[in-house]
Amino acid sequence: MLKLLREVFRTGEATHKYPFAPAEVSKDFRGKPEHDPVLCIACAACTIACPANALGMTTDVEAGTRTWSIFYGQCVFCGRCEEACPTGAISLSSDFELAVGRRDDLFKRAIFNLAYCRSCGVPFSSAKEVAYVAQLLGTYATTPEEAERIRQHAEICPECKRKLDVEQVARSSLTRQMENM
Ligand code: SF4
Ligand code: SF4
Repeated sequence: MLKLLREVFRTGEATHKYPFAPAEVSKDFRGKPEHDPVLCIACAACTIACPANALGMTTDVEAGTRTWSIFYGQCVFCGRCEEACPTGAISLSSDFELAVGRRDDLFKRAIFNLAYCRSCGVPFSSAKEVAYVAQLLGTYATTPEEAERIRQHAEICPECKRKLDVEQVARSSLTRQMENM
Protein backbone atom coordinates (compact mmCIF):
# COMPACT_ATOMS: atom_id res chain seq x y z
CA MET A 1 0.00 0.00 0.00
CA LEU A 2 2.79 2.40 0.95
CA LYS A 3 4.55 1.56 -2.26
CA LEU A 4 1.42 2.42 -4.22
CA LEU A 5 0.94 5.75 -2.40
CA ARG A 6 4.60 6.63 -2.99
CA GLU A 7 4.08 5.97 -6.72
CA VAL A 8 0.91 8.10 -6.78
CA PHE A 9 2.69 11.07 -5.16
CA ARG A 10 5.70 10.64 -7.43
CA THR A 11 3.55 10.63 -10.59
CA GLY A 12 1.50 13.66 -9.54
CA GLU A 13 -1.76 14.58 -11.27
CA ALA A 14 -2.07 12.83 -14.61
CA THR A 15 -5.49 14.23 -15.54
CA HIS A 16 -6.80 17.77 -16.10
CA LYS A 17 -9.76 19.37 -14.41
CA TYR A 18 -11.15 20.57 -17.75
CA PRO A 19 -13.84 21.87 -18.23
CA PHE A 20 -13.71 23.21 -14.63
CA ALA A 21 -10.23 24.60 -15.30
CA PRO A 22 -8.97 25.83 -18.70
CA ALA A 23 -7.14 23.23 -20.77
CA GLU A 24 -3.66 24.27 -21.78
CA VAL A 25 -2.69 23.98 -25.45
CA SER A 26 0.72 24.15 -27.08
CA LYS A 27 1.88 27.48 -28.49
CA ASP A 28 1.57 26.16 -32.06
CA PHE A 29 -1.96 24.85 -31.51
CA ARG A 30 -4.27 25.49 -34.47
CA GLY A 31 -7.69 26.42 -33.18
CA LYS A 32 -10.63 28.53 -34.32
CA PRO A 33 -9.68 31.09 -36.99
CA GLU A 34 -10.45 34.60 -35.71
CA HIS A 35 -11.34 37.28 -38.26
CA ASP A 36 -10.90 41.01 -37.71
CA PRO A 37 -13.25 42.96 -40.04
CA VAL A 38 -11.37 46.19 -39.28
CA LEU A 39 -8.13 44.81 -40.72
CA CYS A 40 -9.86 42.85 -43.50
CA ILE A 41 -9.90 44.48 -46.95
CA ALA A 42 -12.19 41.84 -48.56
CA CYS A 43 -9.48 40.83 -51.05
CA ALA A 44 -10.69 37.18 -51.11
CA ALA A 45 -7.14 35.75 -50.92
CA CYS A 46 -8.14 33.58 -47.95
CA THR A 47 -11.26 32.26 -49.68
CA ILE A 48 -9.12 31.13 -52.64
CA ALA A 49 -6.54 29.53 -50.34
CA CYS A 50 -9.04 27.65 -48.15
CA PRO A 51 -8.94 23.94 -49.16
CA ALA A 52 -12.15 23.10 -47.30
CA ASN A 53 -14.37 25.81 -48.80
CA ALA A 54 -15.06 27.04 -45.30
CA LEU A 55 -14.53 30.63 -46.45
CA GLY A 56 -16.68 32.45 -48.96
CA MET A 57 -17.12 35.83 -50.62
CA THR A 58 -20.36 36.97 -52.27
CA THR A 59 -21.13 40.21 -54.05
CA ASP A 60 -24.48 41.98 -54.05
CA VAL A 61 -24.32 44.60 -56.78
CA GLU A 62 -27.81 45.93 -55.93
CA ALA A 63 -26.84 46.59 -52.34
CA GLY A 64 -23.31 47.66 -53.30
CA THR A 65 -21.76 45.22 -50.85
CA ARG A 66 -19.37 42.29 -50.68
CA THR A 67 -19.82 39.76 -47.87
CA TRP A 68 -16.99 37.71 -46.41
CA SER A 69 -18.03 34.59 -44.48
CA ILE A 70 -16.64 31.63 -42.60
CA PHE A 71 -18.43 28.40 -41.72
CA TYR A 72 -16.63 26.88 -38.77
CA GLY A 73 -18.41 23.58 -39.35
CA GLN A 74 -16.30 23.05 -42.47
CA CYS A 75 -12.96 24.42 -41.25
CA VAL A 76 -10.09 21.91 -40.95
CA PHE A 77 -7.79 24.33 -39.05
CA CYS A 78 -5.04 24.11 -41.65
CA GLY A 79 -3.98 27.74 -41.35
CA ARG A 80 -3.85 28.47 -45.10
CA CYS A 81 -6.10 31.53 -44.65
CA GLU A 82 -3.67 33.02 -42.14
CA GLU A 83 -0.74 32.46 -44.52
CA ALA A 84 -2.57 34.01 -47.48
CA CYS A 85 -3.95 37.11 -45.75
CA PRO A 86 -1.96 40.25 -46.67
CA THR A 87 -3.18 42.29 -43.70
CA GLY A 88 -3.16 39.83 -40.79
CA ALA A 89 -6.95 40.02 -40.57
CA ILE A 90 -7.38 36.29 -40.00
CA SER A 91 -5.34 34.08 -37.71
CA LEU A 92 -5.76 30.81 -35.89
CA SER A 93 -6.43 31.16 -32.19
CA SER A 94 -6.04 28.67 -29.36
CA ASP A 95 -9.83 28.38 -28.98
CA PHE A 96 -11.10 24.85 -29.60
CA GLU A 97 -14.52 25.12 -27.98
CA LEU A 98 -16.71 25.39 -31.07
CA ALA A 99 -19.89 23.72 -29.80
CA VAL A 100 -23.02 25.79 -30.50
CA GLY A 101 -26.73 25.23 -30.11
CA ARG A 102 -27.72 26.14 -33.68
CA ARG A 103 -25.98 25.43 -36.99
CA ASP A 104 -26.33 29.10 -37.95
CA ASP A 105 -24.11 30.08 -35.03
CA LEU A 106 -21.18 28.39 -36.81
CA PHE A 107 -21.25 31.17 -39.43
CA LYS A 108 -19.53 34.52 -39.11
CA ARG A 109 -19.93 37.27 -41.68
CA ALA A 110 -18.51 40.71 -42.43
CA ILE A 111 -19.95 43.16 -44.97
CA PHE A 112 -17.88 45.61 -47.03
CA ASN A 113 -18.75 48.37 -49.50
CA LEU A 114 -17.98 47.92 -53.19
CA ALA A 115 -15.67 50.22 -55.16
CA TYR A 116 -16.92 51.59 -58.49
CA CYS A 117 -14.61 52.15 -61.45
CA ARG A 118 -13.93 55.89 -61.82
CA SER A 119 -13.96 55.43 -65.59
CA CYS A 120 -16.98 53.20 -66.38
CA GLY A 121 -18.80 53.12 -63.04
CA VAL A 122 -18.90 49.31 -62.81
CA PRO A 123 -18.30 47.77 -59.33
CA PHE A 124 -15.07 45.78 -59.48
CA SER A 125 -13.59 45.36 -56.01
CA SER A 126 -14.12 46.27 -52.38
CA ALA A 127 -13.55 49.92 -51.48
CA LYS A 128 -11.11 48.88 -48.75
CA GLU A 129 -9.03 46.78 -51.14
CA VAL A 130 -8.77 49.64 -53.64
CA ALA A 131 -7.71 52.04 -50.87
CA TYR A 132 -5.17 49.46 -49.61
CA VAL A 133 -3.62 49.00 -53.08
CA ALA A 134 -3.52 52.77 -53.71
CA GLN A 135 -1.84 53.36 -50.36
CA LEU A 136 0.66 50.52 -50.90
CA LEU A 137 1.63 51.65 -54.42
CA GLY A 138 1.62 55.29 -53.30
CA THR A 139 4.60 54.58 -51.06
CA TYR A 140 6.68 54.18 -54.27
CA ALA A 141 5.66 57.62 -55.59
CA THR A 142 8.35 60.27 -55.55
CA THR A 143 6.00 63.29 -55.79
CA PRO A 144 2.48 64.08 -54.51
CA GLU A 145 1.33 64.33 -58.17
CA GLU A 146 2.61 60.82 -58.86
CA ALA A 147 0.88 59.53 -55.72
CA GLU A 148 -2.38 61.09 -56.93
CA ARG A 149 -1.94 59.48 -60.39
CA ILE A 150 -1.39 56.10 -58.71
CA ARG A 151 -4.48 56.56 -56.54
CA GLN A 152 -6.60 57.41 -59.59
CA HIS A 153 -5.18 54.42 -61.50
CA ALA A 154 -6.07 52.09 -58.59
CA GLU A 155 -9.67 53.27 -58.83
CA ILE A 156 -10.02 52.00 -62.42
CA CYS A 157 -11.38 48.51 -63.15
CA PRO A 158 -9.17 45.92 -64.94
CA GLU A 159 -11.20 46.22 -68.17
CA CYS A 160 -10.74 50.01 -68.36
CA LYS A 161 -7.05 49.62 -67.46
CA ARG A 162 -6.63 47.26 -70.42
CA LYS A 163 -8.33 49.79 -72.74
CA LEU A 164 -6.12 52.58 -71.39
CA ASP A 165 -3.00 50.45 -71.94
CA VAL A 166 -4.04 49.71 -75.55
CA GLU A 167 -4.68 53.42 -76.16
CA GLN A 168 -1.30 54.34 -74.69
CA VAL A 169 0.51 51.76 -76.84
CA ALA A 170 -1.34 53.01 -79.96
CA ARG A 171 -0.51 56.64 -79.11
CA SER A 172 3.19 56.00 -78.57
CA SER A 173 3.42 53.91 -81.75
CA LEU A 174 1.77 56.76 -83.71
CA THR A 175 4.21 59.26 -82.17
CA ARG A 176 7.18 57.06 -83.19
CA GLN A 177 5.83 56.76 -86.75
CA MET A 178 5.42 60.55 -87.01
CA GLU A 179 8.94 61.11 -85.65
CA ASN A 180 10.36 58.76 -88.32
CA MET A 181 8.55 60.52 -91.19
S1 SF4 B 1 -8.00 27.21 -41.26
FE1 SF4 B 1 -7.94 26.22 -43.30
S2 SF4 B 1 -9.95 25.25 -43.52
FE2 SF4 B 1 -10.13 26.74 -41.82
S3 SF4 B 1 -10.86 28.62 -42.78
FE3 SF4 B 1 -8.62 28.76 -42.75
S4 SF4 B 1 -7.96 27.92 -44.75
FE4 SF4 B 1 -10.10 27.28 -44.44
S1 SF4 C 1 -7.20 37.41 -47.05
FE1 SF4 C 1 -7.39 38.69 -45.19
S2 SF4 C 1 -7.91 40.72 -45.99
FE2 SF4 C 1 -8.31 39.26 -47.65
S3 SF4 C 1 -10.49 38.70 -47.41
FE3 SF4 C 1 -9.32 37.19 -46.26
S4 SF4 C 1 -9.25 37.98 -44.16
FE4 SF4 C 1 -9.86 39.67 -45.47
